[in-house]
Amino acid sequence: MAFQTRNAPHRAHEYLHRLGMEIGDGLFIHPIIGLKKEGDFDSRTIIQAYQVLINSYYPHSKVLLTGLSTSMRYAGPREAVFHAIVRKNYGATHFLVGRDHAGVGDYYDPFAAHKIFEEIPDIGIQIIKFYNVFYCSKCEGIVSENTCSHPEKFITKISMTKIRKMLSEGKKPPKEILREEVSQFLIENFYLITEDYR
Ligand SMILES: [Zn+2]
Repeated sequence: MAFQTRNAPHRAHEYLHRLGMEIGDGLFIHPIIGLKKEGDFDSRTIIQAYQVLINSYYPHSKVLLTGLSTSMRYAGPREAVFHAIVRKNYGATHFLVGRDHAGVGDYYDPFAAHKIFEEIPDIGIQIIKFYNVFYCSKCEGIVSENTCSHPEKFITKISMTKIRKMLSEGKKPPKEILREEVSQFLIENFYLITEDYR
């Protein structure tokens, strides 16, 4: 089960990872370590944050972490297809595609990357689609619209943009959306890509 990312891991990612480990033989976490846009985490921060999460919580025998050296193009659905083919070529049998895969701002329909796989022929890797994953204070956990229908007052949407903003202000995000160990690591070590980043 391959998982594409360009971010440090938050609890909604973790929810997908665990489902991936349930469905697949193992989880292949494959962060992009090429060029990304200004304001994203740099690659070293992402890899090290993943190491913190894996070492603190995941069964080592089920998880493989390695970087993918390619640029992010923020090409939404087309990039989702590219990402899936690359992971197939790495030997993955399944590929997780969440909400707004390879999107930027609100440019794409958040589910365009799901629809494109229904329109193209079989590319030889099974696409596992996820929709909205969030924290629900009534359920007391990370859930999705398939597993929780509580009203909005109980729901916290998990956004890495908001998390990065909190970290930039020296604030620790709640443990319900970011693991304490990952928060601590990021507060002490995080680097964002800036205009003059090389
Ligand atoms: Zn709920």
